[in-house]
Amino acid sequence: MSDPKGPIIVWFRRDLRLRDNPALYWACKSDHPVLPIYVWSPEEEAPWEPGGASKWWLHHSLAALKKDLQEDNLDLVIAKGPSLETLKRVVKETRAVGLFWNRLYDPATLARDTEVKTHFKDQGLNVRSFNGSLLYEPWEIETKEGNPYQVFTPFWKAVRMDLDPAEPLPKPRKGMAEGFEHPSIDIDDLELLPKIDWAGGIQEAWEPGEDGARKEFDKFQESRLEDYPEGRDFPAKQATSRMSPYLHFGEISPRTIWSKLLEEAPSDVLSKRGNSTGEFLRELAWREFAHHLLYHFPQTPENNLREKFKDFPWREDEAQLKQWQKGQTGYPIVDAGMRELWTTGYMHNRVRMIVASFLVKDLRIHWIEGARWFWDTLVDADLANNTLGWQWTAGCGADAAPYFRIFNPMKQGEKFDPGGEYVRKWVPEIASLPDAHLQAPWEASSQVLKEAGVELGEDYPEPMVDHSEEREKALEAFQKIK
Ligand SMILES: Cc1cc2nc3c(=O)[nH]c(=O)nc-3n(C[C@H](O)[C@H](O)[C@H](O)COP(=O)(O)OP(=O)(O)OC[C@H]3O[C@@H](n4cnc5c(N)ncnc54)[C@H](O)[C@@H]3O)c2cc1C
Repeated sequence: MSDPKGPIIVWFRRDLRLRDNPALYWACKSDHPVLPIYVWSPEEEAPWEPGGASKWWLHHSLAALKKDLQEDNLDLVIAKGPSLETLKRVVKETRAVGLFWNRLYDPATLARDTEVKTHFKDQGLNVRSFNGSLLYEPWEIETKEGNPYQVFTPFWKAVRMDLDPAEPLPKPRKGMAEGFEHPSIDIDDLELLPKIDWAGGIQEAWEPGEDGARKEFDKFQESRLEDYPEGRDFPAKQATSRMSPYLHFGEISPRTIWSKLLEEAPSDVLSKRGNSTGEFLRELAWREFAHHLLYHFPQTPENNLREKFKDFPWREDEAQLKQWQKGQTGYPIVDAGMRELWTTGYMHNRVRMIVASFLVKDLRIHWIEGARWFWDTLVDADLANNTLGWQWTAGCGADAAPYFRIFNPMKQGEKFDPGGEYVRKWVPEIASLPDAHLQAPWEASSQVLKEAGVELGEDYPEPMVDHSEEREKALEAFQKIK
């Protein structure tokens, strides 16, 4: 039985922030005490339980949230799942009157949340869920025929025409919420950190948590946004926002980003191409599009959206997959990307497209293998964005790159890393090669290689496959399913 003075439980998930957090805000507005809780239940997200890099991030993000909540006299309760059983126990023990959360859209958590909602509604609890992570709910946008969008440009046109997301909510004021005490385990008990410490490079590159998100966004707005349209394709420039892990874990909301940028922008910023704010918000809209697709096509994390791809002759090659994962393909731009990923938990978008194209076209290994590796190693691993990115590259997804458009890794390297800064940083063993040979060391004469102190096959691998030959094979394979 609930107690009329019992608390409202705020169930934190991927909304690990105080500002613009509707579930927290509305719970704090009530005249009930508030009990924030995080329930660790990775098996409920199977087969996409958080990977190693995501767990590292989550550990630090929970620590930051706990500290931030404490400043408002709220104590974050940490518990282990299953979610429904844990919430039942806490509701019973605290005689709670309500349970609030912000919605998630991936199929496994949606199913789980529906079960939780039904259970507690039947018990007469005040159960409320909110939109905390998207500008638009996936079901709010449809084509004239009433179908989900599958092409980005018309989606964006429809969205930007009348997009007027609600103003971000303020942080609940100190003292607004009376806290409610309840026993908790330690964050360490969740064992999210790796046993062998491989996360030094990630630690150096990132500051998880709401403060970290705001600092990074402010830096972007002040010094990188202006160059975004030109700079965003050049991995050495670091011209992008680096908001992806913060958005995934909900340490900043898209509404906050949207309103901060539009505050100072002229009104036609969204309809004209080429201006920095408009170009950046267009990318943010790809995130919305990805969530729209995942919601309407929940089978796509494992299955091609375009069915004809089911007959594509994918190859299974464990050894080649490993070479790709380790950044030992012999193609410098590919290896640079894979090593950046392994060290920092992040890879620049242009390079994600290059390495993904290499896996699915040059090696013709199934995109799901790439998606799984990214899932384990990215700090921003996100089911909606990752699925869209991989299916887009493989040509089997919504608005996908045509399969016959095959990235040439050397040309991509020359175009987007013209001074070789990115390759030299991540593939130091060939750093002394002159620019002209950096993207294709095997084309350098033995004299040039000797002068640079590079012995191919010893210091750095020979190319694992011949790109031109593999390109032809990929086109042939595509003809078979066309
Ligand atoms: C094969 C592949 C896999 C990917 N996997 C992921 C993933 O697991 N998680 C992830 O967040 N992004 C993924 N992306 C999309 C994109 O690479 C990253 O969002 C981006 O590199 C993050 O850096 P940023 O925040 O500096 O981006 P910015 O350029 O500053 O963009 C701002 C925000 O817009 C959103 N965004 C930008 N580009 C895309 C896009 N193409 N699709 C969807 N949202 C986008 C992201 O939330 C990003 O943080 C993937 C792309 C590819 C090609």
